[in-house]
This record gives sequence, C-alpha cells and structure tokens, in this order.
Amino acid sequence: MSTAGPPLALLAELTHRCPLGCPYCSNPLTLDRVRDELDTATWLRVIDEAAALGVLQVHFSGGEPLVRRDLATLIGHARAAGLYTNLITSAVLLDAPRLASLQVAGLEHVQISFQDTEPGNADRIAGFQGGHEKKLAAARMVREAGLALTINAVMHRQNLGHLSEMIDLALVLGAGRLEIAHVQYYGWALSNRSSLIPSREEVRNAVAVVAAARERLKGRLVIDHVVPDYYAHRPKACMGGWARQFMNIAPSGLVLPCHAAQGIPNLRFDSVKERSLREIWADSEAFERFRGTSWMPEPCRSCDRREIDFGGCRCQAMALTGDAGATDPACALSPHHARLLATAKAESEAVIPPSFVYRRYAKMPHEEESPA
Ligand code: SF4
Ligand code: SF4
Repeated sequence: MSTAGPPLALLAELTHRCPLGCPYCSNPLTLDRVRDELDTATWLRVIDEAAALGVLQVHFSGGEPLVRRDLATLIGHARAAGLYTNLITSAVLLDAPRLASLQVAGLEHVQISFQDTEPGNADRIAGFQGGHEKKLAAARMVREAGLALTINAVMHRQNLGHLSEMIDLALVLGAGRLEIAHVQYYGWALSNRSSLIPSREEVRNAVAVVAAARERLKGRLVIDHVVPDYYAHRPKACMGGWARQFMNIAPSGLVLPCHAAQGIPNLRFDSVKERSLREIWADSEAFERFRGTSWMPEPCRSCDRREIDFGGCRCQAMALTGDAGATDPACALSPHHARLLATAKAESEAVIPPSFVYRRYAKMPHEEESPA
C-alpha cells in the first residue's frame, strides 16, 4: 500500500455530454453514455469521501457539467463539506437564472473556455454556431455576480496568431487568471494533430508575447502558460506527478489519475460504485502503477529531475511510443525525442487539413431524458 499524502483536488467529470465538438477535447474517444453516469446520491457520497480524505477543491467539469440538473445540489453539498467549488464550463448553456442558482448553492469560481477571439473562427473550432457570443455574455454575468473568473484558452496553429487579443479579452472580461493551454496530443487532439500543431517559430513568438504581457499586467491578470511539450527540452510534471495531487472521476465513476488515463490500455481503474475514494487513492492498481519513481526506466531512473517532472506524461508516452511506462518523448533524453521533433516539424509545416475531426456526443434514442 502506498504512503501517498492526500490529494489536493478532485476533478468531477459529471458527464461526457457537451454541445460543443472541440477537436482537441481531452475526453476519451469512447464517451460515457448517459445511462452510465453516476446518480446524484453517489456523487453526494463521493463528495463527502473527498472532503474526509483531505481534498481542498472540487472542479465540476465534463463534457458540459451544466447539462446535469443536479449541479446546484452537488455544488451546495461540496461547499457545505468545506470544499472550494469551481465550475469548468463552455458556458454556452449558462444563463442568469442558472448562474444565480449555482451562486446561491455556493459556487465560488467559474472557468470559461474560449476557442478564439474572432467569433467566426471560434465557432468553427468549437463546432457550435453562436457559441462565442454566448460565452462573452456568460463571462460578463459571472463578473457582474461577483464571482471569480478564469479564462481558459486552448491555443494551436489555427488561433495562436490571436494570442495578444486573447490576453486583452481576458482583461476586458475582468478575469483574474488566464490559462493559456497549448493542445496536448492524445485522444481527439491526436486525431487532429496536423490541423492543430503550431511551428517552433509560432511557439517562440507566443512565449515572447506572454512574457511581455506578464510584465505589463503584473498585479492585474495572472497568466499561466506551459510551453507545448513537443517543443520543450524537458517535460512538465504532468498532474504534478502521477497520483500525487489530483484525482479525476469519470462520469461512469471510474477513478483516474488524470483525465486522459483511459487511453492507456491494460490499466485497471477502480470505480466509486465498488470502493471508497480513500481505498482507491491508497492502493488502486491504476494509481500505484506510476506513482513515485520506482516504476521508472532509464534514463529517468538515474536522472536528477525524476522527482521534479516524474518522467513526464504517461498518456503522451503511450500515444507516441505505445508504452505508457516509457520516458515521455517530450524529454530530449528520450530515445523517441528526435522522431517527435521531426513529426512536429513536418506536420506544422504541412497544409492545414480542410476540416477537423470534431468530438461529438451522438445522442441515442433512449437518452432523451437525463437521469440527473
Ligand atoms: S473541450 Fe470542448 S467538446 Fe470537450 S468538453 Fe470542453 S467544451 Fe466540450
Ligand atoms: S530523463 Fe526522465 S526524469 Fe529526467 S528529465 Fe527526462 S523525463 Fe524527466
């Protein structure tokens, strides 16, 4: 059994349903169906277990969490349990009455994703007509309600030229934080990589834009920016290290060390339907498999950064090498790094494919009514 400390945060993926079709969505390629979603009572129990385990924050996410009719109940329960509550949303379903009900329940923070600053391109990327205008309106409502706002901007070769405008937009909307998230290439994003991957030059420019903005906006806007893995020299500590700080519950109740972990075959995930969160955190096979450093191969095993980046991202290692236990190819010390760079160069210089492979949740006839 592990001696891991408590997780800091829980990502509660309430549903995989979502009206948008983002081609880089981090949800798995096979989406959970409505009939498999946890019911309200189970989520309430899980929230209690998370608080008892020492979790400090719960992020209500999806898919689009606003499609769950019990969202206010879950937020209220989390707040009463002493957890900080954050709603991660596309915001296209957020209107004033719904926001008010969530705020009354105890919502403290809202994170809204934007696909671009140019409305036509934003709607094209999201695969949702009129979405950008709805997001702008929702962001204003959030600030008018006095709630904390974070803007999440997923950047890639089809919107990176508008990075400065995205920073300005976050400022105008009154966000306290802007997350500039470069696409991570697994799941849906891997299927769309040649449509999304920027060139090294474009990334270099983005780094300069962010550095200047951080200087200019000190004390007004916090900007998070992680350089895309494909152009990094060393990988980031994905999720702060596997099974060290975060846990993710998929709509069906499977507990994952990260939201993309279902892309790793032969990894057994426990479900909150069968075990408590405490038991799963302590010794679930999926959590133990890459926890700490003893699982590491060379060159990680003898590397002085092994407790800094924990060997990088397991999902990326799986996607690019076929082995989730390999050193992340984003690391220059990985034997796969040169191939990764060559792929990035070739795809970022190639003509952009005419269309995205959109992520779509196709509703089945029996899914007209949601259980919650
Ligand atoms: S990334 Fe886009 S499609 Fe995926 S859940 Fe978020 S808003 Fe929906
Ligand atoms: S060899 Fe492993 S531990 Fe060392 S920097 Fe690369 S990924 Fe990190």
